[in-house]
Amino acid sequence: MQVFAYGAHAGDKPLEPLRITRRDPGPEDVQIEIAYCGICHSDLHQVRAEWEGTKYPCVPGHEIVGRVSAVGLKVTGFAPGDLVGVGCIVDSCKHCEECAEGLENYCDGVVGTYNFPTPDAPGWTLGGYSQAIVVHQRYALRIRHPEAQLAAVAPLLCAGITTWSPLRHWNAGPGKKVGVVGIGGLGHMGIKLAHALGAHVVAFTTSESKREAAKSLGADEVVVSSDAQQMAAHLKSFDLIINTVAAPHDLDALLVLLKRDGAMTLVGAPASPHPSPNVFNLIMKRRTLAGSMIGGIPQTQEMLDFCAEHGIVSDIELIRAEHINEAFERMLQGDVKYRFVIDNATLAE
Ligand code: NAP
Ligand code: ZN
Repeated sequence: MQVFAYGAHAGDKPLEPLRITRRDPGPEDVQIEIAYCGICHSDLHQVRAEWEGTKYPCVPGHEIVGRVSAVGLKVTGFAPGDLVGVGCIVDSCKHCEECAEGLENYCDGVVGTYNFPTPDAPGWTLGGYSQAIVVHQRYALRIRHPEAQLAAVAPLLCAGITTWSPLRHWNAGPGKKVGVVGIGGLGHMGIKLAHALGAHVVAFTTSESKREAAKSLGADEVVVSSDAQQMAAHLKSFDLIINTVAAPHDLDALLVLLKRDGAMTLVGAPASPHPSPNVFNLIMKRRTLAGSMIGGIPQTQEMLDFCAEHGIVSDIELIRAEHINEAFERMLQGDVKYRFVIDNATLAE
């Protein structure tokens, strides 16, 4: 099947309309007509070759929601018409220890939604800035939110699960003090989810102008990270800090805010490394500096169901496909509250 898409032919070229081919659904495949797709900062890193190994044409997009349009003969959980999502994973080996535990995100054979090897043309996966996608049923997620919220559900498929997974792994909840650094797409979801889990939430931002907004997202306190006095007020007090910042920065300023046995998890993935932190800031209080990558399929479903139950969606700005390049620039300037989402119906126009 030929569909319209938006992608780039080189790292220094803008995205433009393309036509791509999707495979016919195999016995265990679900074919999805994409209604909306979120714009993640990872899309920009990948399409502009800020990370290694980008293949062109590159069609980004891994915050996908839509409706099932066809299913293979052996598909059991989904039927045409169902509301579904696809996140960052479209395949994995299905038999390693990680896959067996539902941690497909850590499978060595994981196939990301774009820029990963596949037998399908053109030889690497093409993402959700497109009219349709075909995935094995294991990687399709069920959406239980009302259909009217569908566009705002899209960012849960990456920004949601990427913050949910460390919150769950490090047991965020009542009695825990959780910091969220960087109030962008990931960070604003981190605040909402940590708040809904019952933690005391402190937002760290470089933007004084986001103070009130961060509070209305659910932050109990807001710290402007350039203000040493505001930072010092939180010394040795955090159980967990989730760091979503997309640029290299001083990690020590945050590590010293962790209490004994506290952990800071890096989820932001800048193109070049952070300056190495001072080892003494780790050993003195047995602190952990960790990383976390999206989340497995069962945990993604858990997060979606939790959000449906608690009425949680992303704060979005819906755009037409021809405004994708402009949206990338505005995302870089922090000029979005807090996620751009593409109306994929506009790809056909
Ligand atoms: P985003 O919407 O651009 O948000 C990033 C936020 O970081 C900005 O809003 C800003 O918040 C802060 N920031 C940006 N530049 C900064 C700088 N130079 N110094 C300090 N703070 C800065 O991006 P996103 O979509 O949330 O993605 C964030 C990062 O996570 C990206 O690197 C992305 O690739 C990565 N990511 C990782 C995973 C994973 O699995 N680990 C999954 C998805 C995305 P303030 O204005 O509040 O300071
Ligand atoms: Zn993403």
